[in-house]
Amino acid sequence: MLKSFIYSQLYQWYERNRRILPWRETEDAYCIWLSEIILQQTRVAQGMEYYLRFVSRWPRVEDLAAADEAEVLREWQGLGYYSRARNLHKAAKMIVESQKSKDKRQKTKVEFPRTFEELRALPGIGDYTAGAIASFAYDMPYPAMDGNVYRVIARLLDIDEPFDTTAGKKLFHKQIEEILDRDHPRLFNSAIMEFGALQCTPALGDHCETCPLQSACAGYAHGTAELLPVRKPRPKVRDRWLTYHIYIKSTDRYADGIQSTDLFTIIQRRETKDIWYHLYEFPCEESSGLEDERVRGERSIELTHVLSHQKIHARFIIHKVQKMPEIPGTIRIRWEDLNDYALSRLTLRAIDRLRLTPPN
Ligand code: SF4
Repeated sequence: MLKSFIYSQLYQWYERNRRILPWRETEDAYCIWLSEIILQQTRVAQGMEYYLRFVSRWPRVEDLAAADEAEVLREWQGLGYYSRARNLHKAAKMIVESQKSKDKRQKTKVEFPRTFEELRALPGIGDYTAGAIASFAYDMPYPAMDGNVYRVIARLLDIDEPFDTTAGKKLFHKQIEEILDRDHPRLFNSAIMEFGALQCTPALGDHCETCPLQSACAGYAHGTAELLPVRKPRPKVRDRWLTYHIYIKSTDRYADGIQSTDLFTIIQRRETKDIWYHLYEFPCEESSGLEDERVRGERSIELTHVLSHQKIHARFIIHKVQKMPEIPGTIRIRWEDLNDYALSRLTLRAIDRLRLTPPN
């Protein structure tokens, strides 16, 4: 494959088609890191909102390091995989701490790590993210292999080895190392990622017909492009049944002769490390199936929630009570303050459903 042909076609295509994304218009390693972690969780349109919120709330790494973990989790709410938000916060603290020990009087601005190895050593930063930061921020010759790039390489070279196994990763890495434009790594990585996102998309439609790399594409020539890339077989999904109890107590209040009603509920922080660690939810019981334990008149909501390896069958039962039950580990809060807590995605879905028909 002629590398110079690939580069010239790819860069011309990129010039004509690239989207203006704030994290591609900056060389600030901290901003690039934030965007990369957020975009592992979501698509560009939704990721943009989160990115802009994070950057405006914590514009520098030292601001994020000084934040409360609960605040970071709350801003992350809705993205799932909260361990990524925790690692983000932990890494920010580590960066600031390591500077403190170098610069005891803290006279200089906190500097983001500048080498691939330093980046790779931070929690939550793997080869991909370290490569992305090193190339986008510092124009260093490291590949940034995201799903889009795996797809482009698999098709260009007609590789049918699963890309998500150890052997597959090694093979793809070797190929991208060979193709990478070492004179312009920032441009190369940006262009190939965007090319995968917009041109060499999972469903190809007629994209191959307008593709500037068509004459160099082995997948197109062999008619295999649409079947690539190949993944390893998915592990079996485990079913789980969770019953949540939403206790609601209403209290009447009089102020200036006007009566209003406050709603209270109880929530607890999840301490088991299996899912949603340290997030808040309603008191929960797990069982081997969902038995109907509602009493007459009680409302309930049923939701199915799919995680990467688990399918959660959840029932939320609403209990209107005169007195809150005393359940160890729970805290009593006003219903309207629920959003002040980092809640699991499933809990948010249930609350959203209840907002349509409030629990009082
Ligand atoms: S010809 Fe088709 S499969 Fe090959 S790189 Fe272009 S869009 Fe992708």
